[in-house]
Amino acid sequence: MKRLVLSSAVSLALLSGCGSQMVTSDAPATAQQAMQASVVKSPNDNRSYKVITLPNQLEVMLISDPTTEKSAASLSVGVGLLHDPMTQQGMAHYLEHMLFLGTENYPDTKGYSEFMTANGGAQNAYTWLDITNYMFSVNNDAVDEALARFSDFFKAPMLYPEYTEKEKSAVNAEWSMRREMDFFGQFKLARNLLGDHPANRFLIGNLESLGDKEGSNLHEETVAFYNQYYSANIMKVALLGNQSLAELEQLAVKHFSSIKNKEIAEPDVTATIDFAEVGGKRIHYVPNQDIKQLNLEFIIDDNSDQFAVKPNAFVSYLLGSEMPGTPAFVLKEQGLISSLNASADPTRYGNYGAFTVNLNLTDQGMQHREAITALLMQYIELIKTEGVDEKYFQEIRTSLANQFRFLEKSDEFGYVSNLAEAMQNRPAEMAIAAPFHYDAFDADAIRAVLDQLTPERLRIWYVSKQEPHDSELHYYNGKYKVVTISDEEQARWQQPSDLALHLPAVNRLLPENFDIVADTSRTTPEVVIEEPGLEIWHYPSQLFTDQPRGVLEIHINNTAALTSAKADVLLSIWRDLYSLQQSALMTEAGIAGMGVSLSTGTGLTLSLGGFTDKQPALLEQALASLKVDVNAQNFAQAIDRYVRALKNQSKGFAYSQAFGAYSKLLREGSFNTEKLIATAESLSEVDLQVFMNELMAANTLRVFAFGNYDQAALTNVAGELRAVFPSSRQVTDYQTARFWQPAAGTTLVWQQDIEAADVALVDVKVHPIPGAATKAQGRLLAAHFSNIVFDKLRTEEQLAYAVGGFSPGIDEYTGFGMFIQTPEKDVAAMQQRFEDFHAEYQQVLAEMSEAEFEQLKASTLVSLKEPAKNLREEVAPLLNDWYREKYSFDSKQQLIAAMEQVTLADLQSFYQATLLSDDAARINVQMRGTKFADKPFADLPQQTKVNDLQSFHQQMKKQ
Ligand SMILES: [Zn+2]
Repeated sequence: MKRLVLSSAVSLALLSGCGSQMVTSDAPATAQQAMQASVVKSPNDNRSYKVITLPNQLEVMLISDPTTEKSAASLSVGVGLLHDPMTQQGMAHYLEHMLFLGTENYPDTKGYSEFMTANGGAQNAYTWLDITNYMFSVNNDAVDEALARFSDFFKAPMLYPEYTEKEKSAVNAEWSMRREMDFFGQFKLARNLLGDHPANRFLIGNLESLGDKEGSNLHEETVAFYNQYYSANIMKVALLGNQSLAELEQLAVKHFSSIKNKEIAEPDVTATIDFAEVGGKRIHYVPNQDIKQLNLEFIIDDNSDQFAVKPNAFVSYLLGSEMPGTPAFVLKEQGLISSLNASADPTRYGNYGAFTVNLNLTDQGMQHREAITALLMQYIELIKTEGVDEKYFQEIRTSLANQFRFLEKSDEFGYVSNLAEAMQNRPAEMAIAAPFHYDAFDADAIRAVLDQLTPERLRIWYVSKQEPHDSELHYYNGKYKVVTISDEEQARWQQPSDLALHLPAVNRLLPENFDIVADTSRTTPEVVIEEPGLEIWHYPSQLFTDQPRGVLEIHINNTAALTSAKADVLLSIWRDLYSLQQSALMTEAGIAGMGVSLSTGTGLTLSLGGFTDKQPALLEQALASLKVDVNAQNFAQAIDRYVRALKNQSKGFAYSQAFGAYSKLLREGSFNTEKLIATAESLSEVDLQVFMNELMAANTLRVFAFGNYDQAALTNVAGELRAVFPSSRQVTDYQTARFWQPAAGTTLVWQQDIEAADVALVDVKVHPIPGAATKAQGRLLAAHFSNIVFDKLRTEEQLAYAVGGFSPGIDEYTGFGMFIQTPEKDVAAMQQRFEDFHAEYQQVLAEMSEAEFEQLKASTLVSLKEPAKNLREEVAPLLNDWYREKYSFDSKQQLIAAMEQVTLADLQSFYQATLLSDDAARINVQMRGTKFADKPFADLPQQTKVNDLQSFHQQMKKQ
């Protein structure tokens, strides 16, 4: 499943595989050399590429990167939900799960995940409408065996009938987790309303759709589906490693050329949509979350082959612009919306796509949905008559070209996955460049898209808790009603608007100068400007010295929100109104390759990033309106958004709610949700005015400038800051939030009923000794432990989709524990299963051999020592240390040094001191879902139940 970000522990702990024999390949020694053009890459990309087509017609992109620590591969199959048998909906996704569970050469169901864990690997897969994509990354020295195991999925999977039952439950748990997610419900309904079109199927699958039924046996259909569609000629591979291209080619030949070519036809979809039936509709949808949205969805023909002339990007650029006179600007100014996004997805329904405009409405906007729709339709007319102008093409092209010229590396795992997906949709040589490559201004292609933005192809979605409804979704929690849009309403769209609409003005922030100005001889972060209440640090990139980019972090430190819920709420409202009022600037900066944002914490942080050339102009504008314009109306609207967002948290994934409560428990300056809501509802715009003045008048300013800045630029930053803050400013001491001091014999318990169906638990015990040594031990043990938890509780017992082990830091201390979201057990029963598992794992750990341990340690060290791949990764650990005033900036090095020292005996005693210890400090979070509301919570020995966070934080001992 894709487009969902799970916690890394979950996304890494995936499925299972096998034993450890070497696969022998009798593949032909050479690959066919097709007449392919060379891969188009960024001038900033020093990797080498080559595309080959194996004799079985499998196309492989080879990527040689001598500097990489990890090798990675992804294999995509051009089949997905669109081809599921109607008798077994969810088949493509279910088969994706089954492939991880053993192959002929590696029959053990958990062998694959064990191998990956032992070799610093990660593995995952996703299924969508027309693609199933599998990927892994692994330490370089293990790539040959990893490929042998991986490629065997596509040659000889076991598809054990006895695991059919088990894995069906894993798929069911995955569905159960997502049935309350409005994205899935709405997307399902959007497909339901397409009539006979093949997109009208159930993507995830569950116990109802998958299973033996009259005339259909799940196992037999699984085998048949695999045999029919898993053919080399509709597969694409991206393979990245530190070897030469010639060596990578040998690996590709060895492992992939024996995948069978069944010479099947590309499983295309050609069914047509009858717009007379499908279009011109308004869909009233009642979501689970309290949201207020208006979405215009035009169904367009798939035009993804036109990537070189980008008609969709051109139209969405104009429709989504935030510049004065555009719908986003005008509607925000009127207080009718808080956001507008325009985007196109040309293959959303397979051979059809969607062009969508999504708006978040205020209560005032909810009263004027028809008028807002009319305004957007009128603006589309304006684009048709005046907007197809080459100047916008120039601007978009410059923006994309700048990004491509200085394109940064990303992690290998995601990179190969994206490439294997892109290769399904475009020529391999353009797989990297296509998103950035804007060949020519093509007015006809643009008009072809605009001509499809018509009422006949339009579905208008009214999404809110108040919508009328007469039907219910089957597999998801969502109610709805579909009506035909009247001719009178459509006629009103033709009338001219009373609001003056304009096409966007040209961008003023596009960079022109890419010179490197930073003093690159500086090798440690240094204070370069220091005066009372203002400190500016600078550090040039050590790894990407030719990047004309930088990150500027301006921290306005103020401790009010650590003890006051009111201050905490007001900071959030301030940030919300700032983003709303600066959205034109933020969008303009984004197109110019920069970013600007305001975040809250111990005070506020204004962050700028991207190309440094025009950052001074951006900073000046970003600071000029730091204090927002507030009035009764926009304040009330911001409070409404704030309160709904808090309430909606209780509708999120149960396990994310559990992690949210876990973090709040341990950090001062956290408040109960009810307290925040009550506080928010008691405030007025005057409170925000007063608070903004107070914060501006009492704080300490700290700036971290990372990257391409010279002394003049930093002097300018200081000048801008002096100009914005009052000269009478009171300088306060720098302070950040403190954390709970773990004490032996204490157990903090948080118990809460939630609105999701499932149960979630987070259970952590803390090692009594702080410092880098225990951090290293915890991290190492977690790599192993997670895998065993996953294999046992998910693959074997089918208790959950999201389950794992982790080793969280609690400031200087290290915890160790488990988490789960389960539709199968109530809180107390699940807690008991955790307790039993603690002892079971002790057995596993006792049997770990020295050799196994050394391999685990070596592979974990490889990951830890991996150099940063881009500026963002380089600056992250530095900022972490900087915020905590660790001015040796060496926390990461200390952890590596400590990791080098860890022994197997250390791991065992670490485990004794945490999960096996009855005395270890403990944090236990229990979220009770509606399905188990009548079952008890789990009481623990020596427990202290926390109910009120603020009073707990007032009296808790802090580190
Ligand atoms: Zn899945």
